[in-house]
Amino acid sequence: MERASSEKSGLSNIHLKKRQRTDGNIRTAMVDFDVLDCPVCFEPLTIPIFQCDNGHLACSSCCSKLRDICPTCGSPIGHIRCRGMETVIESVFLPCINAKLGCAKRIPFLKQSTHKKECCFSFCSCPVQDCNYTGTYTDLYDHYAISTHQDSMGRGFECGTPFYVLMNISEKIFIKREFYMKLLFAVQCFREPYGVYVTVSCIAPSSPEVGHFSYEISYIKILQVNLETPPENSMLIPHSLLSGDLLDLRLCIKKLN
Ligand SMILES: [Zn+2]
Ligand SMILES: [Zn+2]
Ligand SMILES: [Zn+2]
Ligand SMILES: [Zn+2]
Repeated sequence: MERASSEKSGLSNIHLKKRQRTDGNIRTAMVDFDVLDCPVCFEPLTIPIFQCDNGHLACSSCCSKLRDICPTCGSPIGHIRCRGMETVIESVFLPCINAKLGCAKRIPFLKQSTHKKECCFSFCSCPVQDCNYTGTYTDLYDHYAISTHQDSMGRGFECGTPFYVLMNISEKIFIKREFYMKLLFAVQCFREPYGVYVTVSCIAPSSPEVGHFSYEISYIKILQVNLETPPENSMLIPHSLLSGDLLDLRLCIKKLN
């Protein structure tokens, strides 16, 4: 009875200590980033993390590639989770990789790559072949607008107003500038066995600050489709509807609320 109550008070002491450690401010720690990478493929660890009987770690994709054999000691791996390491990587927050460019956000270690796609400060690449320019999406717009890339006439449009795109299928990409929000849009076509796929995408991070768009394409006024959230969506124009190598499209891009 006495023993049980002393065990109980021991446990509550542990809980108290834990609370004292976690209450109040989060303290920062220095961590060698290499320990947050999978020791087999050197990619940042993701959950689940596995360990062999000897405690060697591997990420889940390495476990399946190695057919559940530990590359260090040959023991089976892929059945025992390493919960301790999972807790560690769940608790790590890092400054955004674009902190120097102005992003003040602190990002959970496990969300780094998602944030990179969304961060307004992430660099976008100039879509023009052989141009190596990269910059934020606003800088990219300016680069495109003032460089020799654009034809002097007719490459701009306004959201909500339909416009025409006349492009050669072999050109593969056609860039349009949106004047008011200062965004670049790429109309791309891909020749496939069944016909030509056409997609429209906004060259910018997927951040809510940039906004979301829907677009409507019609081809020679025969097909009319409503597609949302580029670039996953596309319209297929069958070969039977194509005449030669020229695409004559009517496009309308709208900003969604
Ligand atoms: Zn790995
Ligand atoms: Zn091992
Ligand atoms: Zn950021
Ligand atoms: Zn360029």
